[in-house]
Amino acid sequence: MGKLHDIFQEYKIRPIKSLGQNFLIDGAVLQKIADAGNISSNDIAVEIGAGMGGLTTELAKRAERVLAVEIDTKLFGYLKNLFGNSENVKILNADIMKISLSDEIAALSWDTGDPIKVIANLPYYITTPVLMRMLEKNYKIKIMVLMMQKEVADRILAAPGTKTYGALTVAAGYYCSVRKITDVPPHCFVPQPGVTSSVLRFDVYEKPQVKLLDRDFFFRTVRAAFNQRRKTLLNALSNSENFNNSKEEIRNILSNEGIEENRRGETLSILQFANLSNSLFLNKH
Ligand code: SAM
Repeated sequence: MGKLHDIFQEYKIRPIKSLGQNFLIDGAVLQKIADAGNISSNDIAVEIGAGMGGLTTELAKRAERVLAVEIDTKLFGYLKNLFGNSENVKILNADIMKISLSDEIAALSWDTGDPIKVIANLPYYITTPVLMRMLEKNYKIKIMVLMMQKEVADRILAAPGTKTYGALTVAAGYYCSVRKITDVPPHCFVPQPGVTSSVLRFDVYEKPQVKLLDRDFFFRTVRAAFNQRRKTLLNALSNSENFNNSKEEIRNILSNEGIEENRRGETLSILQFANLSNSLFLNKH
């Protein structure tokens, strides 16, 4: 810890709260995160928010190609010094929400078809947008190991019928199987965050487990069901601007799917959401 503060002084770095700069200093946790990705030498490891390079260093021990993205120019300067002109670690000064990972990997001539693994201690202010971007952009990622606030991890892992089950759970579960690696207490970071964190591993399905006629329509159905959590599914879907079917039509669609009309959206499994959205899609006018 002393060492980190010395580097802060030398490089005139003051951790920026709004960029989620809480640096992980616990060596055992850093190793655990890197190990959880089962990285082999031909994998391409991508890190989002390299910070002070603690995790980057662990990734570089395991993968021959590491692409580390960092938005903060001061930290980028430090990382450039740390990794020098290393052939296997490339540091990119960019906003992960504004770049195409595929283009960046191609620019390095790393688009060899080898597995891409995203390993990151995410900046908490954009956890969900970053996660959704990684899943939706078709980057051909095989595994992600991501640290986030425990509260968000709990929502991702929630079971149907529980309070925390929601659109984020369904989205993650549509693309991946997800499991928890570990919880990480605040004292493992400098500066310490106000909350406990969790590390999750996402194994991205090669093919989604459920068949959808229209992916956007599926997510619109899911959002409509969760937007009005306290309403029955029949009312939430009939009230939604997304669907122009009459209440009677929606009642029939639910009945055909074997879903009782007074159930709430939060009790539906991903498969039930898929069947329901396919049926609504076929009956839209
Ligand atoms: N990887 C380091 C570690 O484990 O200690 C730092 C993790 S820190 C929680 C998050 C890092 O993401 C910060 O260094 C922050 O500057 C960076 N960051 C924040 N927003 C970003 C963005 N949009 N694109 C890329 N990096 C970002």
